[in-house]
Amino acid sequence: MARIADEKYLKIAEKLKALDHILITSHINPDGDNIASIVSLGMGLSQLGKTVTMALVSPVPHIYKFLSCTDKIYGFEKLEEERPKFDCAIVLDVGSLKRVGESVDIRKFTGLVLNIDHHVKTENCGDISFVDSSYSSTAEIIYNLLVDMGVKITPEIAEALYVGIMTDTGGFQFQNTTSSAMRAVSELIEAGAGPEKISQKVYFSNRAAKIVLMGKVLSTLKFDPSGKIGWITATKEVIDECGANSDDLENVINNITSIETVEVAILFRDLHDGKIKLSLRARNSVDVQKFALKYQGGGHKKAAGMVLDAPLDEAVNKVIFEFRDYIREYVKN
Ligand code: 5GP
Ligand code: MN
Repeated sequence: MARIADEKYLKIAEKLKALDHILITSHINPDGDNIASIVSLGMGLSQLGKTVTMALVSPVPHIYKFLSCTDKIYGFEKLEEERPKFDCAIVLDVGSLKRVGESVDIRKFTGLVLNIDHHVKTENCGDISFVDSSYSSTAEIIYNLLVDMGVKITPEIAEALYVGIMTDTGGFQFQNTTSSAMRAVSELIEAGAGPEKISQKVYFSNRAAKIVLMGKVLSTLKFDPSGKIGWITATKEVIDECGANSDDLENVINNITSIETVEVAILFRDLHDGKIKLSLRARNSVDVQKFALKYQGGGHKKAAGMVLDAPLDEAVNKVIFEFRDYIREYVKN
């Protein structure tokens, strides 16, 4: 019996088994879950004799480069030049094809788009889409899929899948740290994933520039008068000044959610592409995904993101003003 008894999931497994040339991709600004999901599915399908191409718009963040096959992830510019055709593309950890990257038209490369995701479904994505927000991570779904497809979970695959589940659960701390996630983790350790090695690589292998950047970004911390909304800002200048890059900002926001009065934490990033990218985090009951959806963003109830077309000061004023009102429905004074 399949580990996940869902018609769309089974259909995706059937297509992947039947087809040969497969493109695997995911969202811009990659995180542990989407990198892990790409390479583990890539390794699993290669084991089944498929010809696999993995591609992303953004580079692989430094801390995930130790995972097998991350050096084989293409940039989309290279695909644009070569224009290969695939039997199908599978888009992971996204609820909208636009999240792959504004400049990418996945349909140019294939006639069949499959989608696997664990975000709350907001729109149709691809031709066959399996979305289940009860899973901790896309990596947890991919683990089940690989087992159901008869892939042997090698230590390299196990390591990647472990990273996906670990990072999306915030190091096994968030609400999505479910018993099914931990069962998968237990099986992955048996298959060769090493928890200590992985924590060292992901959480204790920072470049000095990242820590210097964190210090500067944290020093921008401001609160609304109630202390319930805390926010920080990061600009391209400060990132460049530290010799860091924008993926060095991953997780800096968690320092703000660690403040006892804070209900909502926000990171505003001005990367000078005319847009401001927001990371939103909630500690208790506030639903930040619902807020992000108003601006075509998305994510989860406690961790979401969105993009605004506005100068930094304007974006901050507007969003903080709206959040002060928005949190009233969740938080009593
Ligand atoms: P982060 O703040 O770490 O970039 O993202 C937090 C969560 O929100 C992740 O699940 C991420 O996939 C999602 N997310 C971030 N930015 C966007 C966005 O612009 N659109 C959508 N739909 N989801 C986003
Ligand atoms: Mn995810």
